[in-house]
Amino acid sequence: MITLDAITLTFPDGSERVTAVDNVSLTAQPGTVTAITGPSGSGKSSVLAVAATLIRPDRGQVIVGGIDATELNRADASRLRRERIGIVFQQSNLLPSLTAVEQLVVMGELGGSARRGRPRATERARELLGAVGLTDHLDKRPAQLSGGQRQRVNIARALMNEPTVLLVDEPTSALDQERGAEIIDLIVGLSTDQGTATLLVTHDLVHLPRVHAVLQMVDGRLSPVPMGAVRSTAAHESS
Ligand code: ADP
Ligand code: MG
Repeated sequence: MITLDAITLTFPDGSERVTAVDNVSLTAQPGTVTAITGPSGSGKSSVLAVAATLIRPDRGQVIVGGIDATELNRADASRLRRERIGIVFQQSNLLPSLTAVEQLVVMGELGGSARRGRPRATERARELLGAVGLTDHLDKRPAQLSGGQRQRVNIARALMNEPTVLLVDEPTSALDQERGAEIIDLIVGLSTDQGTATLLVTHDLVHLPRVHAVLQMVDGRLSPVPMGAVRSTAAHESS
């Protein structure tokens, strides 16, 4: 479970500061997907960066599995991130020279699950790649995979260290609508199966009826969107 409590984040902007995240609070439960939608520049990626403990907020707390990440020093925060948080960035940052299995095994080694040993790590990598539908592509390098398949490798890699929190930023932005819908379904299915508390940033309203809760961000402020409104908007957009 992850809780953001009254998070405010500002960035320097000339002689002033711009407020990217304005007093945002949210809680995501294990096994659920909370979508964060909203226009470009509204602060969605900034919220994820704070949740990921990559940026320390000006104010507020980030609580991951009972630990207040904003109280931790850099080393402890990065350990918490490696062990508890899976991150899928907008741009897939796979290593060009590694196969799909190797991308995941390397992540396992960075994540401290090296103690598990390479054979176990390879086994988990194969299992996860199977769960994302890539059983036939285990030994392919990124250049041999489609955009959607690379995104699947990214998602599997984020789950390698059995995180309790999964943070995903616009995973469908480079995909067509059908591929995009498949990726969202996959994220929802994996979050349920693996029990992750998932925050999913997307501006694509068509995908939202599949998730458990939807929040909208406007000018750094977050507000809930009733699922009834989500379904009628999605129906309207896809017709
Ligand atoms: P979104 O993901 O919704 O498009 P962002 O979180 O990327 O929005 O950006 C929110 C606001 O914060 C924007 O005004 C953006 O220009 C600003 N911002 C984001 N990252 C930085 C940064 N590293 N330095 C300065 N301003 C930033
Ligand atoms: Mg963004």
